[in-house]
Amino acid sequence: MARLSPLLESYDQVILDLDGCVWLGAEPVEGSPEAVAALREAGKRVAFATNNSWHPGEDHVTSLWRMGIKASLGDVVTVGGAMQHLLAETRSGRTAYVIGTAALRRHVAEAGLKLMNDTDLASRAEVVVTGGTDQLHYDDLRTAALAVYHGADFLATSRDPALPTPEGPWPGTGAILAAVETAAGRRAQIVGKPEPQLFFTALDRLGEGRTLVVGDRLDSDVAAAAAAGLDAALVHSGVGAGEISGEAGDDGRPVPVAEAANLSELVLGP
Ligand SMILES: [Mg+2]
Repeated sequence: MARLSPLLESYDQVILDLDGCVWLGAEPVEGSPEAVAALREAGKRVAFATNNSWHPGEDHVTSLWRMGIKASLGDVVTVGGAMQHLLAETRSGRTAYVIGTAALRRHVAEAGLKLMNDTDLASRAEVVVTGGTDQLHYDDLRTAALAVYHGADFLATSRDPALPTPEGPWPGTGAILAAVETAAGRRAQIVGKPEPQLFFTALDRLGEGRTLVVGDRLDSDVAAAAAAGLDAALVHSGVGAGEISGEAGDDGRPVPVAEAANLSELVLGP
């Protein structure tokens, strides 16, 4: 059985960022399947967390298995799942208008809200939820802006500005959200990183225990962990790891408890 590093021995459970930490695109980060297996062998509980609301959790489970990492649906916390958790606890029974994928609409419906999309009353919905999508029409932005203008609770999965692709940035959730916010003159409550809700939902799944968050971004993973009152470790395996915005500790930036080249080095040692 692989020995864990002293750092990981001191935690009961870990929340792992997916993109840039467990995998990069369609490939696992080198050593991450072995690191996850070692954590589980040592009795540590593992959850996977992602700001991605485009794909349902089932897709992430499939990707993990394809890379040799065992996972069940309950192990994967997407920002859509975190939105569902928050809405179910605070806004069940209300009407909602959703900009986003079918996966996000399903999460909102499963939280007990009544979807007003495709009805004449959509612009009077009590809750507006905005997420990323590549299926967007001006009518969607108009309907959401009107509902927010009329006083709807306004939530969004993230402010992530772009989807990095090989050809460059594609407009992300934050770009779509900016259109609604600009028109309506109000700012949305964010559920994804760097806000803490994604990790609160992960803790709800994992249960009590000393928890370490592992991610590849200071301004997202480490900041969200700090907001949730959790320790975080930074790995330098993400895209653009060399250009992470600023140094830890500068300007009140959150400070990770450890840094490593990748998840394997963090968990198993160099
Ligand atoms: Mg990441």
